[in-house]
Amino acid sequence: MSTVLVINSGSSSIKYQLVDPTSGEAVASGIVERIGDDEGSIKHTYAGRTTTQHDPVADHGAGLRAVLALFASVGPDLAQAHMVAVGHRVVQGGSVFDGPVVVDDDVVAQIDALSPLAPLHNPAHVIGLRVARELFPDVPHVVVFDTAFFRTLPEAAYTYAIDAAVAREHGVRRYGFHGTSHQYVSARAAEVLGRRPQDVNQIVLHLGNGASASAVRGGVAVETSMGLTPLEGLVMGTRSGDVDPAVLIHLQRNAGMSVDDVDDLLNRRSGLKGLSGENDFRALHELIATGDADAALALEVYLHRLRKYIGAYYAVLGRVDAVVFTAGVGENDATVRARALESLETLGIAIDDDRNAVRSHEARVISPDWATTTVMVVPTNEELAIARQAVALVGDEVDDDPAELGHA
Ligand code: AMP
Repeated sequence: MSTVLVINSGSSSIKYQLVDPTSGEAVASGIVERIGDDEGSIKHTYAGRTTTQHDPVADHGAGLRAVLALFASVGPDLAQAHMVAVGHRVVQGGSVFDGPVVVDDDVVAQIDALSPLAPLHNPAHVIGLRVARELFPDVPHVVVFDTAFFRTLPEAAYTYAIDAAVAREHGVRRYGFHGTSHQYVSARAAEVLGRRPQDVNQIVLHLGNGASASAVRGGVAVETSMGLTPLEGLVMGTRSGDVDPAVLIHLQRNAGMSVDDVDDLLNRRSGLKGLSGENDFRALHELIATGDADAALALEVYLHRLRKYIGAYYAVLGRVDAVVFTAGVGENDATVRARALESLETLGIAIDDDRNAVRSHEARVISPDWATTTVMVVPTNEELAIARQAVALVGDEVDDDPAELGHA
């Protein structure tokens, strides 16, 4: 067995997973939270047991060192784990990166230079990369970009209709996010259908706390709902998705709101939470069951937006072989799936109620046999996708029986 350590380094957190890229097994996983705070925490799960520590974590370096100490004391022993790569999730690869790359100093500098386009994410990734390279100097590090799958978007789809010179100067265009998930899920969907990816047109709906839709023609992304940042598109847990850009102008001119206030409003105080007070669908359904009108409206707004995107992407693709639901809501919420696609029989889209009601962690078909478009639920697995992309890239550099790769 060989493994890949997948790291997702955020501004005040580090998520990690030790993945067997062949079997897909998550050997161990965990999260360091509240880095730099008075009260930090680390959760480490291995062999079905979760160990939790509540100690301040000064910075990312201290966080990763504490994680290594947990691997040493609780297991698994990384020196015996045949770790062939460290895979890093990076949110913004801009127009520079169209696929995973092996990390060197230049790559880190380029990710850093893209920070203005992802001020919350890229600086944190750079810190995580620097620390991880120090701690694992003998293992190749690979970065996998959230934006890379959408580098195939046609110019007409990624261009905003604003002054072209301003857009060019400031890198203002649609990049798309959640690409690792859309790529993994669309490839899995074709596999489940028993067809080659190049023969399948699909609409992929990644509905989690963040949410995005994509149109994938023959394995190639041609449209997606997120734009310059992950704020555009669908209604999300706490994010507004699409609004008239003049809302921002109006609030700054007339409501005394600053740029940061508007940022906070649209990213953290909007979406389902802004409308109903709840961003989790389980809590939202409970509220609706009590007769809460705000919660009921929040669901309708969410579904209305989702259906608009499905219709738009149908027109973009012309022929849709599959509609695929994934992520926390898409995988678990049968009501959202059914309502998103209701009354579309004339398009060949329908859901079979019994199939839709099945709860499972497996990829599955939920449309009736007569439907010309297959509706599916395909669980996403971004860590596994990152691990497999890392191995595919460094495969040549790794011999069949990798030597024990030490860590500093
Ligand atoms: P993710 O960002 O993919 O982890 O998705 C998280 C979201 O999935 C939560 O905020 C919930 O809204 C939703 N979710 C998770 N589990 C369920 C469930 N069993 N039923 C409905 N929604 C769920």
